[in-house]
Amino acid sequence: MDEDLSTYTFTHTGGKADLFVTPSTYEEVGQLIAYAYKKEMPVTYLGRGSNLIVRDGGIRGLVIHCGRMNQITSAGESIIAQSGASIIDVSRFALAHERTGLEFACGIPGSVGGALYMNAGAYGGETADVLRQAVVVDAKGKILTLCGDELDMGYRHSAISKKGYLALEGTFHLKKGDPKKIKAEMDRLTALRELKQPLEYPSCGSVFKRPPGYFAGKLIQDSGLQGTRIGGVEVSKKHAGFMVNVDHGTASDYIRLIKHVQQTVKKKFGVDLETEVKIIGEKLQE
Ligand SMILES: Cc1cc2nc3c(=O)[nH]c(=O)nc-3n(C[C@H](O)[C@H](O)[C@H](O)COP(=O)(O)OP(=O)(O)OC[C@H]3O[C@@H](n4cnc5c(N)ncnc54)[C@H](O)[C@@H]3O)c2cc1C
Repeated sequence: MDEDLSTYTFTHTGGKADLFVTPSTYEEVGQLIAYAYKKEMPVTYLGRGSNLIVRDGGIRGLVIHCGRMNQITSAGESIIAQSGASIIDVSRFALAHERTGLEFACGIPGSVGGALYMNAGAYGGETADVLRQAVVVDAKGKILTLCGDELDMGYRHSAISKKGYLALEGTFHLKKGDPKKIKAEMDRLTALRELKQPLEYPSCGSVFKRPPGYFAGKLIQDSGLQGTRIGGVEVSKKHAGFMVNVDHGTASDYIRLIKHVQQTVKKKFGVDLETEVKIIGEKLQE
């Protein structure tokens, strides 16, 4: 009870969860969700917190954290990963098993569940390219298997995000590859990230989705917003699409800075920036 969520988010911000549970089996997850449904209790799913801003007032009801369900196994051309596994670990596992297709994910700091939810992607690759099947739980606690079109993957969304399912596991179909080439590609992408992204500070990655026909970072840069700071949160000077927590920033600092950037870009270029980061939870009561 009253678990501090700032320790579970990459921005190091956020209030407390009323009830915080870390189940270790799929059956436990099903039972928890069925119980919450019966009691009409709100339920929130948490991965590694790398794409989340939890408001400073925290989250009412039940928070389910999938981190203990983190096994990765190989079966022929498939790799099966539980939702709490880190997608970086899955890409390394694929390299160790000489499988190609997950190199793009080698620097995405989220969980498998978060990658399935968001259809996470980078450098021309995305989860949808290699995901064949997902095991999920619906709002009543029933365990379902989704394949093909049922996964409904699009730019930063999926059936899981649209229908509010909890993702339990993903099956990735990966072709046999040359480990030297796979490793070289992972090293290249890691070097690019280190060069371009402010990885030395807490952040939630790209704050905004790519607006059709534009790049969010370029619009922000051309609006002269890099280095703008509210409270302890700053528009990164290294990558304009990132907001970094440079000095004990709060979720409220993040939200005010996001609004300021949206308003400035709208005024200057007439473009609406939609957040990629998910903002959840309650405002702090004054
Ligand atoms: C430095 C940095 C770099 C990044 N680079 C990239 C990048 O290149 N490409 C990219 O796509 N993203 C990137 N991100 C963002 C983030 O890592 C991804 O969006 C990731 O997929 C989020 O996973 P997570 O486990 O951290 O999810 P969380 O932040 O914990 O949650 C995000 C959303 O997913 C939902 N969710 C999480 N787990 C589950 C589950 N098991 N079942 C159902 N819903 C769930 C949550 O409810 C929430 O709505 C970056 C972030 C950082 C900090």
